[in-house]
Amino acid sequence: MAGTTISELQEISELQIISESQVKGKYGKFGGQYVPEVLMPALEELEKGYEKYKNDPEFLAELGHYLKDFAGRETPLYFARNLSKKYGTKIYLKREDLVHGGAHKLNNVIGQALLAKYMGKNRLIAETGAGQHGTATAMAGANLGFETVVYMGAKDVKRQQMNAYRMELMGTEVKAVDTGSKTLKDAINEAFRDWVTNIGNTHYLIGSVVGPHPYPMIVRDFQSVIGREVKEQAMEKEGRLPDTIIACAGGGSNAMGIFHSFIGDRKVRLIAVEAGGKALNCTEKAALHSASLCTGEEGILHGARTKVLQDRNGQILESKSISAGLDYSGVGPELASLVESGRVTARYVTDKEALEAFNELSRLEGIIPALESSHALAYLKKAADCGELGDFVVLNLSGRGDKDLETVMGLKKGV
Ligand SMILES: *Cc1c(COP(=O)(O)O)cnc(C)c1O
Repeated sequence: MAGTTISELQEISELQIISESQVKGKYGKFGGQYVPEVLMPALEELEKGYEKYKNDPEFLAELGHYLKDFAGRETPLYFARNLSKKYGTKIYLKREDLVHGGAHKLNNVIGQALLAKYMGKNRLIAETGAGQHGTATAMAGANLGFETVVYMGAKDVKRQQMNAYRMELMGTEVKAVDTGSKTLKDAINEAFRDWVTNIGNTHYLIGSVVGPHPYPMIVRDFQSVIGREVKEQAMEKEGRLPDTIIACAGGGSNAMGIFHSFIGDRKVRLIAVEAGGKALNCTEKAALHSASLCTGEEGILHGARTKVLQDRNGQILESKSISAGLDYSGVGPELASLVESGRVTARYVTDKEALEAFNELSRLEGIIPALESSHALAYLKKAADCGELGDFVVLNLSGRGDKDLETVMGLKKGV
C-alpha cells in the first residue's frame, strides 16, 4: 500500500483535524485518530459497537462457528522436520496458509463483517491493492449477505485481473479508481469518501492493524486467535512456550496476531521481519524497500501516528517489495510501539533472500509459501547465524504461495 497523507484526507472534508490532546487509542507515542472531524462519529460508533459486542456470548458463538466451519480453524502447528534439520533447531510452522482464501486475512474480515451485521449495517466497503484483502472481504460479504463494494486503483485492477474477477464472482462490485496514481492510495481516498457519505448503513472494513483508533485494536483482537492457538499447541507439543516467534510485517496484522498472547511472556523473543526490497536505499521519490520499522521515521499515515517511510520534508515515500502484501509505507502503531520499547525486534530481508526461502520451503517441506511469509522464512538463516533461534521456534506461515507463481516465474524468465 502507498500512503494517504492527512492533507489528502482533508481535501475530502476540509474540516479541522482534532487536536492531539483529544486523541484516543495511543500506543506510547504512536496511534491515535488523526482524521477529519467528519469521520469522528463513524469511528465513535464503531468503537461503541465493538465494546458492546466483543464479549457478547451470542456474537462470540457465531464468530466461533464461522472461524471453525467457514475459515477452517484451528490451523495446525506443523513440525517442519526437514527445515528443522537444516537449521539445527525445532521449527514449527503455524499454518495460516490453510485458512479459507489461503491466508490469515479472513480471521479479521469475518470478525469485522459479523460485527458490522450486529451493528445493523448492510453494506461493506474496502480498498485493496493487490486484491488479497478485497477477495477476503468479498468472501465474507457474500456469505453474510452484504452489499459489498471494493475500491481498487485502475492500475491495480489491470495488474490483478484474476483477483478482481474473483471478487465479482462472489457478488462484490469492484470500483476502479481513476484518479491520482490510480493505485491503492487513491482507492483509500475513495473508500473514506464513500464512508463519509454512507455512514448510516456502511462499515469500512480495514485489512490490517493500521488506520485510526479503534481499527488497530479491533484487527489485532480478531487476529490474536493465531497466538492463542499457538500457545495451547506449543504446550501440547513441547510442554513449554517457544524461545522465538517469527512473523513477516507489512501492516503488521499477522505479526500482532501471533505476538499478542506472548507480549507478557518476556522470555519469548518476538521478531518482525520486513521487506528489505532490493536494498535499504531510497531514490528521491521512492524507497527501494518497505522497511518502515527498521528505517522509517515518526509521521502520520492513514489516520495514525506511526513509523513511516518519508523524505526530509515529511512527504510519504512510495514503498517497494517483491510481495504485494508487504508493499506499504507505514506499519501498525502498536507494532511500532512494541519495537520502540524493545519488546519486538524488527529485522528485514531482501527480495532475493525471500525468493531463496520461497524455493527452500517448497523443496524441503512440500509447502509453497506466500512471498510475504517467505520473508519470515528467509530470516531463519540470519537468526541462526546470530543466535536468535533458541531450541524451539514458531514461524507464522501467513499464507500460501499459489497467488505468487506468476511473479516468481516472471522473475526466473527475467521479465
Ligand atoms: C496481506 C498479507 C500479509 C501482510 O499483512 P500483515 O497485516 O502485515 O499481516 C502477509 N502475508 C500474507 C500471506 C498476506 O496476504
